[in-house]
Amino acid sequence: MSLWTFYHTPPTIDEALKLLESYQGRARVIAGGTDLLLDIRQGHAPRPEALIDVTRIPDMNFICQEDHSLRIGAAVTHTQIVTAPEIARYATCLVESCGVVGGPQVRNVGTLGGNVAHALPAGDGTTSLVVLDAEAEVVIDRVRRWLPIRDLFRGPGQSLLDQTRDLLIQFRFKLSGTHEATAFKRIMRPQGVALPILGCAAWVRLDETHQTYADVRVCIGPVSSTPIRAAAVEATLRGQPVNDETLGRAVSAAHESLHPRTSKYRATADYRQEMVEVLLRRVLTLAAQRVRSGEVIPEGVGIE
Ligand SMILES: Cc1cc2nc3c(=O)[nH]c(=O)nc-3n(C[C@H](O)[C@H](O)[C@H](O)COP(=O)(O)OP(=O)(O)OC[C@H]3O[C@@H](n4cnc5c(N)ncnc54)[C@H](O)[C@@H]3O)c2cc1C
Repeated sequence: MSLWTFYHTPPTIDEALKLLESYQGRARVIAGGTDLLLDIRQGHAPRPEALIDVTRIPDMNFICQEDHSLRIGAAVTHTQIVTAPEIARYATCLVESCGVVGGPQVRNVGTLGGNVAHALPAGDGTTSLVVLDAEAEVVIDRVRRWLPIRDLFRGPGQSLLDQTRDLLIQFRFKLSGTHEATAFKRIMRPQGVALPILGCAAWVRLDETHQTYADVRVCIGPVSSTPIRAAAVEATLRGQPVNDETLGRAVSAAHESLHPRTSKYRATADYRQEMVEVLLRRVLTLAAQRVRSGEVIPEGVGIE
């Protein structure tokens, strides 16, 4: 039995919305299908009467740099992000996170919008968008508006978007400026179910002398039902010298405030707590090095 009956490829956002409305909840938005088709096949999502494919809509499929900010269409694939020089230079963490999603086949069709709309706290692209303080343009209940990305998450796999009616259109965020840089690292088990043990992204701004953290944003996940900023860690770092002692205090704050659970697919809580320290130190050190050297070469990115 077919997983769906009708498959539409509307060329505009308006047509996609009209199609969704005409099916009155019996259609579902699809982008790369790497999450959705598995969910339908495994019975985690109901079989829709129609799939509305948003990947042919030019207004959702672009990367556009404007002065000091960047806009990325929701239908842009992980591969497109990994190969965009402006993202590698000025939003490095996003290239590093999209570059580890699945394998090349998944990255070639899986989209940033799908990663966010699927609403898992372990979404790699999502983790970096959170530290970039991104906003998402959405159409919810026919109203088109910008929202902070964190407002889209309601729980594991639960989005503010009703994916039978609403659309995620694009993302926007500020590019790293003078004295600023980002980094992302992930630890995962390559064998068996490919679930990340933990991922961590950081955005840092150092002072003019590059000796002090002027401002910091950190996202570690999954440690909660939605992607979250590590507020206690950030508070420990702001205004403090860039040295090992400060990193040690940040790690203590992380251990006190973040409580990764034991998961049979990921790892034990104890191991994941240890990895919090490993990731936090690596990511913060790398971001600070990037500010100091002015050199940014994304790490761990698979381009096949
Ligand atoms: C083998 C494999 C490995 C994977 N590895 C990783 C990994 O390492 N890291 C990781 O983060 N993820 C991973 N994933 C999950 C998945 O590939 C990513 O989350 C991907 O970004 C999903 O994008 P998509 O375009 O395929 O989404 P789809 O499957 O097309 O859609 C996902 C959900 O979002 C909705 N949706 C999609 N686009 C929109 C839109 N514009 N507006 C409204 N709703 C929308 C759909 O209705 C659906 O509910 C993996 C998946 C597979 C199959």
